[in-house]
Amino acid sequence: CGVIGIYSQSDVSKKLFYGLNSLQHRGQEASGICVFDGKNMVLDKGMGLVYDNFDDESFIKLKGNIGIGHVRYATAGGSYEYNSQPLLAFSKNREFALAHNGNLVNHKSIRKELEDEGMLFQTAIDTEVILSLVAKYYTGDIIEAVKKTMSRIKGAYSVVMLFEDKLVAFRDPYGYRPLLIGRAKNGEVIIASENAPLEIIGTDAIRDVEPSEIIVVDKKGIHSEFFEKEKRQHCIFEYVYFARTDATLDGVNSYNFRRRCGEILSKEAPVDADLVIAVPDSGTPGAMGYAQESGIPFAEGLVKNRYMGRTFIKPTPEERELSVKLKLNPLETVLRDKRIILVDDSIVRGTTSKNLIMRMKKAGAKEVHMRIVSPPVKYPCFYGIDTPSRKKLIAANYSVEEMRRRIGADSLAFISMKGMLDATLMKEDVFCKACFNGDYAVEPKELVEYEK
Ligand code: 5GP
Ligand code: SF4
Ligand code: MG
Repeated sequence: CGVIGIYSQSDVSKKLFYGLNSLQHRGQEASGICVFDGKNMVLDKGMGLVYDNFDDESFIKLKGNIGIGHVRYATAGGSYEYNSQPLLAFSKNREFALAHNGNLVNHKSIRKELEDEGMLFQTAIDTEVILSLVAKYYTGDIIEAVKKTMSRIKGAYSVVMLFEDKLVAFRDPYGYRPLLIGRAKNGEVIIASENAPLEIIGTDAIRDVEPSEIIVVDKKGIHSEFFEKEKRQHCIFEYVYFARTDATLDGVNSYNFRRRCGEILSKEAPVDADLVIAVPDSGTPGAMGYAQESGIPFAEGLVKNRYMGRTFIKPTPEERELSVKLKLNPLETVLRDKRIILVDDSIVRGTTSKNLIMRMKKAGAKEVHMRIVSPPVKYPCFYGIDTPSRKKLIAANYSVEEMRRRIGADSLAFISMKGMLDATLMKEDVFCKACFNGDYAVEPKELVEYEK
C-alpha cells in the first residue's frame, strides 16, 4: 500500500490526489482521501485507481487543509470496498481517521480480544485493529494513545492519521515499510511512503521518519517522539521490486541498487549471448547494469502496455497469465535468431518468466538465459508484501535446475544473497530479507498457523 498525509494552510485535496497518483504503483485495488475541514472529517474512497476515483465533484466535497490518503494493495482482508482506506471512526465524541501500509502479525488475537469486550468491526483488515486501539487508549493525549497502541501491535506499520487539527504519523520499531517527511518553504508538511510525492508536490529537507518515531504536526509545528527502538528491518524487497526506481528509502536509492545488482549478477553468472533484454519496468535497471558490466548490448525486446496494472494482483492463475500477455509482447524484429539474456527483478510464482520465454522463443529467439536480480523467493512475507503461500512459490518447491526446466529457459541464475546485500552499500543487518532466507525478526506465529 501507499500512504500520504499533508498539513497545510490551504486546501490539500488536489495535492493528496496528485500525491496518491505518484504512489499508484504501491496499490491499484482501492484508493481514498480523508480531510479535516476544521470541524469534521470528510471521507471519499472506493475501489479502483486514483485517477478514476476522484473528479471535480469529489474535490468540491473534500475541502480541508489537513488530510490523508491511501492506495490499497490487499494483504490482510479481501479486495472489497469496505476494506478500503482511510478508515474513519467515531469514539469518545471525536473522529479518528487513519491509513496504514504494512501488515500486523498479531491482529487476529487483538481483534478477538476487542470483540470479546463487545467492540464491533466494520472491516476485515488489520488496520482497523490499529484504529480501534488508538481510539480505545485515547484519554486526552494522542501521543500516549499511539504509544499504548504501539506496545500492543506487532509487525509492519507505517501509519498516517488525522486527529482533530493534527496530522499524526508513526512507524513500527523495525521500520519495515518506508515513510518520509518533508517540509516546504511555506510551512506545508508532507508525509508519504516514498519521496516521489514529496518532490512532486514540493518540499525541501526530506528525511525518513525513523523506525519507532511518532510525529505530530499541528499549529505549533512538527513534534517528534520515540517509542522503544528495535533493530532495523527495512524491507529489501522495496528496492528489488515494490518502490519506484526514483525512491530513496532509508538511505538506499532503488535505481542505483537495481543497477548494481545487475552488475554483480553479470559477474556471478556470466553467459555468452547477443543481447540483454529487460522485463520492464522493474527489471530494466538490473538489465542495464548487467549489460554495462558484461559489455553485451542492452536492447528492448518486450513491448509494454502501460495501461495495464501490475500483473501480480490478479486473483486467478488464468487471469494472471492473460494479464502477462496483455502487458508484455515480444518484439520479433529484435529477438529473431538472437541469444538473449532476459533480466527480471524477481520470480515469485514463475508465471511471468515461463510465459515470456515461451513467447520470445516463438518470436524467434534462439536461446533465452534468465537472470534474476534477487535471490529465489522461498518464504511468504508477513509484513505487507503479498507473496503467496509456500505452495505457490516456485522456488520453495523446486531446485534452480527444476525451475529452469519449468520456465523453459536455456539457463537460469539468481543473484546471491551476498551480492544483493553488497548492492545496498549498507550494513546488511538493517534489512529484512525473510522472504529469501526465512529469517523473520518478528515472529509471525499467528499467521503461519493461519497459512496452513
Ligand atoms: P511471477 O510471475 O514469477 O509470479 O512474479 C514475478 C513478476 O512479478 C516479476 O516480473 C516482478 O516484477 C513481479 N512481482 C514480484 N513481486 C511482486 C509483488 O509483490 N507484486 C506485484 N504486483 N508484482 C510482483
Ligand atoms: Fe520485505 Fe521480504 Fe521482509 Fe516481506 S519478508 S518485509 S517482502 S524483505
Ligand atoms: Mg515485473
